[in-house]
Amino acid sequence: MKKFIIIILSAFMINACSAGFEIIDKPVSFSEERIELTKQYMLMHYEMELDKIEMQPRIIVLHWTAINDFDSCWALFNRETLGGTRPDLAGSGNVNVGVQFLVDREGLVHRLTPENWMGRHCIGINYNSIGVENVGGENNIDNLTDDQLEANISLVRYLKSKYPTIEYLIGHHEYREFEGHPLWREVDESYRTVKYDPGDRFMEAAREAVKELGLKGVSEIRTEKEKTVLQ
Ligand SMILES: [Zn+2]
Repeated sequence: MKKFIIIILSAFMINACSAGFEIIDKPVSFSEERIELTKQYMLMHYEMELDKIEMQPRIIVLHWTAINDFDSCWALFNRETLGGTRPDLAGSGNVNVGVQFLVDREGLVHRLTPENWMGRHCIGINYNSIGVENVGGENNIDNLTDDQLEANISLVRYLKSKYPTIEYLIGHHEYREFEGHPLWREVDESYRTVKYDPGDRFMEAAREAVKELGLKGVSEIRTEKEKTVLQ
């Protein structure tokens, strides 16, 4: 009987912990120059002339950083400009890659920029998406942890309840599904990257856990595109 009570108590404590989802502010450098470069990116890639870089989020994109160490990841996002660090993005504007959230290997969620500021993390949909990077995935090997999965699930729930305009949840490796969709904005047809993050295993588990939110994914995006073509 005693053992039974202890099991119940420990199960309750785990629940209490997950209810205490916490976001740690660890802001990266975001000067006027980075804001201006972000506006330039939106003009160059989306033909959007913006007074400010605040957005109405519609999409959450989950990622991995392809680096297994938190401090290296944070230092990378802290840079304001690309400055030749990413040959694959050459000629596409000098604002550095940027993301709103970074989840460490233990599942602690760090907020790097204001949640509704545009960041450069996913071609075609940076103007309306919130990016969540997970530390890991070096050499494109899926090593994301259970703690990271739990943190992503809690974060998606938090974001959906805070921003009811969010309708979609995708993995970065699925981003090209948006091509041809009304929400896709990239004007340069040659500007594409091949992505593997965070992979099907992680996305399937995340989607299964938050299915009560009704967020749309790959199959819904495809259906919506077919409808757009038919109209
Ligand atoms: Zn990514």
